[in-house]
Amino acid sequence: MAAQTVANTADSTVNTTGSPVDLGPAAALSCRECGHRVPLGPVFACEECFGPLEIAYDFSAYDTEELRKRIEAGPSNIWRYAPLLPVPADVATKPNINPGWTKLVKADNLARELGVTGGLYVKDDSGNPTHSFKDRVVAQAIEAARAFGFTTLSCSSTGNLAGAVGAAAARAGFRSCVFIPHDLEQGKVVMAAIYGGELVGIEGNYDDVNRFCSELIGDPAGEGWGFVNVNLRPYYAEGSKTLSYEICEQLGWQLPDQLVVPIASGSQLTKIDKGLQELIKLGLVEDKPYKIFGAQAEGCSPVSVAYKAGLDVVRPQKPNTIAKSLAIGNPADGPYVLDIARRTGGAVEDVNDEQIVDAIKLLARTEGIFAETAGGVTVGVTRKLIENGLLDPTKTTVVLNTGDGLKTLDAVAGTGLTATIRPNLESFREAGLA
Ligand SMILES: [Zn+2]
Repeated sequence: MAAQTVANTADSTVNTTGSPVDLGPAAALSCRECGHRVPLGPVFACEECFGPLEIAYDFSAYDTEELRKRIEAGPSNIWRYAPLLPVPADVATKPNINPGWTKLVKADNLARELGVTGGLYVKDDSGNPTHSFKDRVVAQAIEAARAFGFTTLSCSSTGNLAGAVGAAAARAGFRSCVFIPHDLEQGKVVMAAIYGGELVGIEGNYDDVNRFCSELIGDPAGEGWGFVNVNLRPYYAEGSKTLSYEICEQLGWQLPDQLVVPIASGSQLTKIDKGLQELIKLGLVEDKPYKIFGAQAEGCSPVSVAYKAGLDVVRPQKPNTIAKSLAIGNPADGPYVLDIARRTGGAVEDVNDEQIVDAIKLLARTEGIFAETAGGVTVGVTRKLIENGLLDPTKTTVVLNTGDGLKTLDAVAGTGLTATIRPNLESFREAGLA
């Protein structure tokens, strides 16, 4: 596998050209299950127990107030948090799509509709360069790829990720070769292909695409390739922490009381929790309890089902929902999501396709934000959690919108003209519009 391109010496990791890998405060990779530590490299599973590897940091040198000033003086993108990410300090000067610092919208109109009095905010990640939160994670992965000496960026995808990888590779001067099911909707194909990288349709479904990528990673043909959500996954996943950092900084360095986060693989939710914990440990926010709620679509709700049944294991489902960006039937981080929802006093809930469409329209007509189906899931779940008493409307609540409604126009097909009239006032009056 690609790990052979990187040599781990006794005390440091070097890349393919023999220079030391500089990933800033990232100290090692640590197994989430057994704690086994290995040097930084393009590996993602523990050699002892096959558990997932994640980044372990050394933040011990930071003075809280100096760090806060450094962040506040940083660029208006995720690199303002470079001291807390697995990237070198000079990352802001390298060509990158520079996502992040998206709007935290105070959603007073939506709050009135939902009966929220404690402050309701929408973290609107549709404002990223390719209009989804995936830019945050890919921006991280490409810096890790650069550090390890990879020259090709790759992934398997059904949409948002393909576009994010294509754009990031184009900007950073990498080759990109992305694999998708051959029969994806034309809109998604165009959005992934426009950046000029190689886009390969695989005759099969998403599971077949994934299987193919696993084979390619183990083959000489895939040597020197960075697969953003496979061999670069520990670095890639850290990009989601920037959502927590931004939310807290935008709230005036305060923790929200409640967050509603979509669940696909579950990685984003676990990293949001990790980011909040880091801010508390670093003293950048005052420690207080917060609750994290997970949101799924009923047609792909393995974590919600497990949560409601009181189970620790997540039973895979065959997805059937309009929320395709969340349609992962066997979510890798599902058990960790259950832990976090229970530890923080949150919950996991799901809404059906009709409720998702209603919520997309509700957010659009109250706040002028057109969310993709995943945003309909979080807004719809927020409404349901308030109705069933699990989410406290008197507390500060942040709801995530992870993508742009233009990506999922099919979901709201039928939304259109109020009336068609002749070009005269009489016809306008006849239509009851005067
Ligand atoms: Zn392990």
